Amino acid sequence: MRVLCLAAALAAAVALVPSPASSQPAAMQWKEVFSPDGTITRVRVPVVVEPQVSAADVAISAVEPIQETGPSASRFDMVIVGDGYTVAEQGLLRQHATAKWNEIAASAPWDKHRGSINVWLVGVVSNQSGVDNDPSQGVSRDTALDMGFWCFNTERLLCLNESKAKAYAAQAPQVDAIVAVGNTTKYGGAGYPSLSTVSGGNAQSGQIAIHELGHSVGGLADEYWTPGTTFTGTEPREPNVTKNPSGSKWSSYLGRSTPDGGTIGAYQGGHQYANGIYRPSQDSLMRSLGKPYNLIGYDVMDRAISSKISSGGATCSGYASTRTGSLASGGSAYQPDASYFQSGAGAHRACLDGPNGTNFNLYLQKWNGSAWATVATAATSGPDETLAYTGTAGYYTYRIASDSGAGAYTLGYTSP
Ligand SMILES: [Zn+2]
Repeated sequence: MRVLCLAAALAAAVALVPSPASSQPAAMQWKEVFSPDGTITRVRVPVVVEPQVSAADVAISAVEPIQETGPSASRFDMVIVGDGYTVAEQGLLRQHATAKWNEIAASAPWDKHRGSINVWLVGVVSNQSGVDNDPSQGVSRDTALDMGFWCFNTERLLCLNESKAKAYAAQAPQVDAIVAVGNTTKYGGAGYPSLSTVSGGNAQSGQIAIHELGHSVGGLADEYWTPGTTFTGTEPREPNVTKNPSGSKWSSYLGRSTPDGGTIGAYQGGHQYANGIYRPSQDSLMRSLGKPYNLIGYDVMDRAISSKISSGGATCSGYASTRTGSLASGGSAYQPDASYFQSGAGAHRACLDGPNGTNFNLYLQKWNGSAWATVATAATSGPDETLAYTGTAGYYTYRIASDSGAGAYTLGYTSP
């Protein structure tokens, strides 16, 4: 009942949007509207043409890792930007961004890849604290990304200037996904082609980002629908909806149990339509916030995230010497060949490629006449490391250690 009332209210609200002066009909788009109880609906709103903002147009901001697991070329890079945080509130932004990342990272399959994802926080500074129309309509604030509630007269729709958000995000070393957090405790968020917005200080709103990442990272379709509608288009390209009532699109999954409950089948309704279209499971994250992906969504996301993560083979190429070995969890080894090497003065470079999901670290040690002393450390929380050290002539050895996890590694190194 609540949903129907909301839809009626929105229809009335959208009708109030004025027509453009040119008398051309306004281009329209759908926006998703999220509710704290997990339901998702859509509203039809005009396309807003924003002045295009380029990277050169926005202030240079501090970019700090929330976690850094390895070189961006072989990592999934998530970028978090903030809006409505003043210079004095950058600590609060970090706190909000970290909380949102932790919530995303606790959900499957992000949890599995947590140790191979870089998370960058772009410290966007706003002139004023908070976002527009918060706590009530008519409140206006001067912020970097123009974030505000009551977007298109919809209270929980938290819009921003997408072009500005992308320009700030581009200051990170690499961008594979963007989440924009707003300085508010009021529930809300919105999805854009390149990013999602969420309330930074609201514990429930992280679920909105997790759903939107299903679209932007996995290319998944929604699995909810509007009552009374029938799908008449061609077979959708999205992997989790089909026109075929037998579910042959995901035939190898049929009958398997799924993390959101029940088994994979072909359930009528999805892709916004009630009839003429089928989804793989009863109630996945693409239908209701707070649920897990179904088995098909999980596998699609798993492959999409994995595709940005390489075990580092490419980054460990180009070294003069290579050694391989394996470590038990918590174990360590010395290279080359459980021994050491003699080196002239100059630059040492090394690269460690460990198994995904582990935390392997690399140390360069030098003989000081009576003991091995560590002279360089590469110890991110991920499986791969790179190290550089310039030193005097002497005897050196590489120590490879597992902080967590086990498996095979490759060490590449070049010595003077
Ligand atoms: Zn959606």
